Amino acid sequence: MTTSTTSWRVLTADASQAPVAVIGAGVMGAGIAQVAAQAGHPVLLMDLREGAAAAAVAQIGQALDGLVAKGRIEAAERAAVMSRLTPAPAITDLKRAALVIEVIVEKLEPKQALLRELDAMLPPDALIASNTSSISITALANGMANPRRLVGMHFFNPVPVMKLVEVVWGAETEASAAQAIEQLSRRWGKTPVHAKSTPGFIVNRIARPYYAETLQLLQEQAGSPAQLDRALRGAGFRMGPCELMDLIGHDTNALVTQSVFDANYGDRRYQPSLVQKALVDGGRLGRKAGKGFYDGVPAASAPVAVIDGDVGTVTLAGQGALVELLGGWMGARGLSFERDSAADWNGVAIEGLQLHFSRGRCAAQIAHERSQPGLAVIDWPLAPDRIDGLAIAFAPRVDNMQQTHAETLLRRLGWEPLVLRDVPGLAVARTVAMLINEGADAVWQGVCDEAGADTAMKLGVNYPAGPFEWLAQLGAAPVVDLLDGLFDASRSERYRISPLLRQRVWA
Ligand code: NAD
Repeated sequence: MTTSTTSWRVLTADASQAPVAVIGAGVMGAGIAQVAAQAGHPVLLMDLREGAAAAAVAQIGQALDGLVAKGRIEAAERAAVMSRLTPAPAITDLKRAALVIEVIVEKLEPKQALLRELDAMLPPDALIASNTSSISITALANGMANPRRLVGMHFFNPVPVMKLVEVVWGAETEASAAQAIEQLSRRWGKTPVHAKSTPGFIVNRIARPYYAETLQLLQEQAGSPAQLDRALRGAGFRMGPCELMDLIGHDTNALVTQSVFDANYGDRRYQPSLVQKALVDGGRLGRKAGKGFYDGVPAASAPVAVIDGDVGTVTLAGQGALVELLGGWMGARGLSFERDSAADWNGVAIEGLQLHFSRGRCAAQIAHERSQPGLAVIDWPLAPDRIDGLAIAFAPRVDNMQQTHAETLLRRLGWEPLVLRDVPGLAVARTVAMLINEGADAVWQGVCDEAGADTAMKLGVNYPAGPFEWLAQLGAAPVVDLLDGLFDASRSERYRISPLLRQRVWA
């Protein structure tokens, strides 16, 4: 980071006097051009492909027609926005731009060549930004005479809809340049979050476990894609991981995973999955191929067969955030229960069967260690009022009667029991704990701050909460305990705990 300050023309001039150039008129470039033009800038759109820029302008016209039809903008505004958009045949036509945003193919060499050319051509008060989703801003700036004016401006797809912009700092980025991109993003109606240029920036890094833990569960035969999707939807995620991967495309998702893995020198934390590889190899690329985990679009959750009335003797055991959450929900559902706050475990007992909140150990292990054959583990009910599924796994000696009691209790609480194979960490608990862990490491390593991590995950991928919001809700102790359990069970670096989380426990 460089501390000298430049007066960037894109901020000091009125938008109508500050032309923005967008190079690359594909999916993202068209969206960025639309947003810049709607914010009042004259926009020059350039693409190597003959006719691509004109086609993008026409496509923006159609998008604006849609907004006029919905009453979101006036016809006069549509005309004004369109009058600001101009296809530019050559790079030399962009000399007057106050900001140039590079949105070309995701490859280092062509991007570097373009950025050097722009740097040599543009006056010193013009900013240069890159919309790269995975290439290091530090590497892109290498070779520019003035690397201080290059900033990552990472939009999300579809650009006119998604609010997040990651403002990415390369090693040489001048603070005033990053701050100018931050302010400009706000003027364009976006929510900017600062990130240090590291593999995956914020969103693509912290989101890895959402896919990786489910892929690992599938590899371990823990349950079906439909069960795992339902478990995560039950925790408040809009889409389960399998249906989301089908939507993104397994080839695209595999590329991002591979790039984060390679960029981290093969850190096991980010190891790609054989399950995903088989999907890609077999052409099951997801919705675009008509087949992935699902053939076409998966069906919504079947309604829960909710039970009312008495279900037997129920005891809420132990202490902590999850116990309080469950107790509150049992009260809201009008279920009478006893309390055993002094118990040395956390969960709920019904008719002699103990249901322990997942601690990253399988039910068989806990049953064995406690000499308590009647035992199951249940997932973390993070969004109890969703009335959806909750994962549960039974120790080997649980009988049919006990299993029925457990399933009845879950249905009484409004949750479809999703009976998984007895794997450590179940579905929601291990996924959310790993998302928290990844967020914690990002902050520990100075990639972003806590609020930035939360904002990025909520706006970039629509998570119901950010990693630090979950951490505040749950406390660090159960998260660390769960990750310790997974680490012991797997002896894999994948589950090593962020120092930030350990320090939270000690604090
Ligand atoms: P795209 O393939 O739709 O568009 C890229 C465009 O750049 C093409 O029209 C191509 O002709 C043009 N181009 C290639 N080399 C060029 C050059 N040297 N000069 C001028 N034009 C050139 O790709 P996209 O999905 O819009 O992605 C563009 C960039 O945005 C990539 O860096 C990508 O990683 C990033 N990004 C994509 C998404 C997404 O969801 N698609 C999200 C965030 C960021």
